Amino acid sequence: MTQTAPESSAVGAAGSDEHPKRFASLDPRTGEVVAHHPVHSAQEVTEAVATARRAATWWAELGFDGRKQRLDAWRRLIVKRLDEIANLVSAETGKPNADAKLELALVIDHLHWAARNAERVLRRRRVASGLLMLNQAATVEYRPLGVVGVIGPWNYPIFTPMGSIAYALAAGNTVVFKPSELTPGVGVWLADTLAEVVPEHPVLSVVTGFGETGAALCRSGVDKLAFTGSTATGKRVMASCAESLTPVLLECGGKDVLIVDYDADVAAAADAALWGAMSNAGQTCIGVERVYVVEDVAEEFVEQITKRAAKLRPGGQPSADFGPITMPSQVEVIRSHVQDALDKGGRAVVGGTESVRPPFVEPVVLVDVPEDSLAITEETFGPTVTVNRVRDVDEAVRLANAGKYGLGGTVFSKSRGEQVARRLRTGMVAVNSVIAFAAVPALPFGGVGDSGFGRIHGEDGLREFTRVQSVTRKRFKPVLNPMSFSRGGGVVGRLMAIVKARYGR
Ligand code: NDP
Repeated sequence: MTQTAPESSAVGAAGSDEHPKRFASLDPRTGEVVAHHPVHSAQEVTEAVATARRAATWWAELGFDGRKQRLDAWRRLIVKRLDEIANLVSAETGKPNADAKLELALVIDHLHWAARNAERVLRRRRVASGLLMLNQAATVEYRPLGVVGVIGPWNYPIFTPMGSIAYALAAGNTVVFKPSELTPGVGVWLADTLAEVVPEHPVLSVVTGFGETGAALCRSGVDKLAFTGSTATGKRVMASCAESLTPVLLECGGKDVLIVDYDADVAAAADAALWGAMSNAGQTCIGVERVYVVEDVAEEFVEQITKRAAKLRPGGQPSADFGPITMPSQVEVIRSHVQDALDKGGRAVVGGTESVRPPFVEPVVLVDVPEDSLAITEETFGPTVTVNRVRDVDEAVRLANAGKYGLGGTVFSKSRGEQVARRLRTGMVAVNSVIAFAAVPALPFGGVGDSGFGRIHGEDGLREFTRVQSVTRKRFKPVLNPMSFSRGGGVVGRLMAIVKARYGR
């Protein structure tokens, strides 16, 4: 279903018609149409999956080397046309061009890693057959699943889905991708460029449309569905996939914490907290939404973050620190969280509800925010951050772990950062820097609780898109063969004697 966006000949914007055949992606900075895309029906999604299934046999049979060559060629093509895709990411999300390029740098590194490491991680390997099965050769292998469905969000429209797409392709699957309705062009660009270097079969297809197109992908008979998006939609995706027992990988929202310990480099912590909270206008699943700072250094931290946050300016121009809120409905969520924090007794030391000026939101730093406020308990997904004082790091860990999400986290501490990190109930932690784990291709990425389950990136991310197959091969006749009706009387007794001698001590 890969298609090039037609000229803006046809219809109105997304949602302008009850049953539109096409929809427009818009530049959130200006409201201008970027391109029109088809709304694919359930029937068209099923056809895309059937085509991908035919391509899957060819792609799997290419083997690791054949796939690596092609994925490497795709990587080089992406690098060559980096400006073009950065401009498109920027147009569909509104983020500054430099941030789009930063996102692409990570994509390229991950694509390289996945292609390079797939064979080492997934190839057939011998394992010990154990005392009781000494006569058997045992091997384990990670085989492709077939067709993987990928549903992606708009906030990092190329980095987040490529965490699944690149790893699923490297593992030998073909992919049908449904991008967010806000960023369909990025998905189409990915499929078109891969088709340039892999013209033989459509190993990556894109279906575009709204939630119904995504739901159709869940019901299409794909062999696994990798979803990145909000927790609420993740639950719907899981329910749809349950109908056909389609396995799911869910990368959902977060409410990540940054902890500042008594001995932290406070200036570095403030700098990192600000980047973690405000970059990409706070529309980052692993963005810093809550800070817990130990009281010895709280005053200094608040002073530092206030000074820095007050200088940040959102806007549509390339020099802006961050862009607009991409999804218009999120603006009200952000405003309501700030209002609720203030109503419950929190204080704004930078900005306030007046900072919400759609499509932009200026930085908001809230302090002393009650723990039952929406700004503490729910994902805000805007350029806001709460800063609460705690007695010690134990209290910080307790409050961090009290939430329903468990995606990433950050610890600033000179003497015990890793020790504190291990106490956080999250999938990832950065010590003395922020978000670094997402940029290390070898590290698995994913969460617990309402942040979802399963892992993209790294060895686990490759294995996620495979079915493990275990094989034994009889090498010679066993001395004892208890698994036969002709085993004879004493065989099990002799086996028990061996078990007792070996394992009973
Ligand atoms: P949504 O949950 O709104 O949408 C995600 C995707 O699901 C979109 O492609 C959407 O299509 C599609 N969709 C909507 N309804 C259905 C349905 N019933 N069945 C199947 N698919 C459906 O998330 P956002 O796009 O708003 O992304 C922001 C969220 O993503 C945040 O919560 C953020 O934390 C999370 N996220 C998580 C990451 C992680 O790795 N853990 C990384 C990045 C973001 P459409 O857009 O057309 O409605």
